[in-house]
Amino acid sequence: MPLPRILARCLVFARFGRGSLRLRLVAALTFLAAASAHANPAAPAAGWHARLTEIRAALLPLDRPLPPPEPGDWRAEDDESPLPFERLSQRERPNTQRVLYLQAVGTLSPPQEAVLRRVHTYLAAWYWLSVRRLPDLPDSAVSAKWRVGRQWHAPTVSYRLLRERLPADGVALLAFTATDLTLGQGWNFVYGLAMPRYRVGIWSLHRFGDPAAGTMLLRRALVTAIHETGHMLGLSHCDRAACVMNGANHLGELDATPLAPCADDLASFLWVAPADAVQWATQLAGLLRVDGLVGDAERLRAVAERVRQANLGLPLWFPDLSWTVPKHVVPAAAVQVGVAASLEPPPDSDQTDRDRTSATDWTGVAGLVAVLALAPVVLGVLAVRKRRRLRAGLREVGGGSQPS
Ligand SMILES: [Zn+2]
Ligand SMILES: [Zn+2]
Repeated sequence: MPLPRILARCLVFARFGRGSLRLRLVAALTFLAAASAHANPAAPAAGWHARLTEIRAALLPLDRPLPPPEPGDWRAEDDESPLPFERLSQRERPNTQRVLYLQAVGTLSPPQEAVLRRVHTYLAAWYWLSVRRLPDLPDSAVSAKWRVGRQWHAPTVSYRLLRERLPADGVALLAFTATDLTLGQGWNFVYGLAMPRYRVGIWSLHRFGDPAAGTMLLRRALVTAIHETGHMLGLSHCDRAACVMNGANHLGELDATPLAPCADDLASFLWVAPADAVQWATQLAGLLRVDGLVGDAERLRAVAERVRQANLGLPLWFPDLSWTVPKHVVPAAAVQVGVAASLEPPPDSDQTDRDRTSATDWTGVAGLVAVLALAPVVLGVLAVRKRRRLRAGLREVGGGSQPS
């Protein structure tokens, strides 16, 4: 429970005796100090940034270098410049949205449905937030104009179908489908697509193989879902080390992608989704072990061990695991698992984006104002109760003297 709430309860339930005025003043001042620190999430941000910088440094020796790219690999064709933690953390600012929404579009077979339920669990563990699934949409929700043969045009579906469906409390909306996706002319297919500008994305199980044939499809789905959600929250592709944010042009690259971040991207993930690094890595390692993904589990276990040894777990001063998400728009171009695509956003998109990004988060301020307004009331109620108790005591002592 956050400190201000604990102190508020203390104020409400405390029974003050003699000399209570001084005690009340001390409690009220402590309460106001804690409440204002809580209302201003930027206050611990600097400390959290410093802690993540330490965690990043401690984990750098665990980074595994990437092999030289083969022709056709994502890195052989990539011309993006990766966004390091230092730069990403300058862009972010706190937000109160805490729900990641999932949206199935079109028909899914029972094994595909089972994979998606597992993905749901992992996303909640990875991003340390509530993950909710919106009611499924039928195949007919995708207009004929948004299709290219048997494939869906991922940017149009994302923009036309998903953008307006992101609920107000949603950090992002990730759709999944069994239909093949494409970026249109010049593209054979795309595994998934994220539009960070609108915090929506879509990915497909179509090319991930038979869901009943072991854990391969699950692993591919997990890498893609975690990767795409990372994009939606501001992370870029990574070419620093083996990392879940590595781009992939083909299944060979996708399968070589670890279900773990490099040191720099771990700091970025925990910046946009604050969590105790030890607990975060331990919990994910446990999930991976259950699913038989032993290599990935071992990697995250090593992360947890290293952070624990460096004594860099969640600091005591960290007041709340408030979720943060980029309000300022991240890259203007869409990115996807595969090669970067330069997508011009539709002309009417700017206003929507501006509306969403310019909204100020007044929750903390409103909470503080409410507390300030209520504090005298609470103190007054306590004083009245005390007077009543005193009068009741007098009545008990001298009850016989009351007029009947
Ligand atoms: Zn990375
Ligand atoms: Zn990507």
